[in-house]
Amino acid sequence: MIDVENCQLVYYPASILNRRTEKVEVFDDNLRQFVERLISIMAQHRGIGLAAPQAGVALRLFVVSLEVSPETAKVYINPSLTPKGAVESLDEGCLSLPGIYTGVKRYTDCEISSQDLQGNTVTESTEGLYARCVQHEFDHLEGITLVHRMDAAAKMVHRRQLKKLEEEYGSRV
Ligand SMILES: [Zn+2]
Repeated sequence: MIDVENCQLVYYPASILNRRTEKVEVFDDNLRQFVERLISIMAQHRGIGLAAPQAGVALRLFVVSLEVSPETAKVYINPSLTPKGAVESLDEGCLSLPGIYTGVKRYTDCEISSQDLQGNTVTESTEGLYARCVQHEFDHLEGITLVHRMDAAAKMVHRRQLKKLEEEYGSRV
């Protein structure tokens, strides 16, 4: 049972962000309420995507809305990805790492198979920013954050900001 009321945005360096998440098995009202909460946290913080561990829940699901709107938000439960196309590096941010933007290599296209809130399997083709967002959120389900995607040079560039976040949020780990 997810404690939906107490779900809130989790910041680096919270340990839950480094954990591989578990498959969603139960599609009930509690899950539906959690997805609603995830969407509202995403919209409140002006994000285009949010994964369950970023709200403190180690489950395999995330929400996306490029319009930053609860009306257009879509949920992807137990997703699997088939990346396609070229690889390109663009700057990315993450709600769990406020103030940090770093170049990450992603595929330009990505097919995603996942379940909806009824448990039905849906397959979708994504491209561009949507494909990038899906790959970023999927990383969260594997316990991978932008910090893991940084090379040594990027870590140097962001060391002050990372340290600041560690000081601010480290006690909550
Ligand atoms: Zn993120």
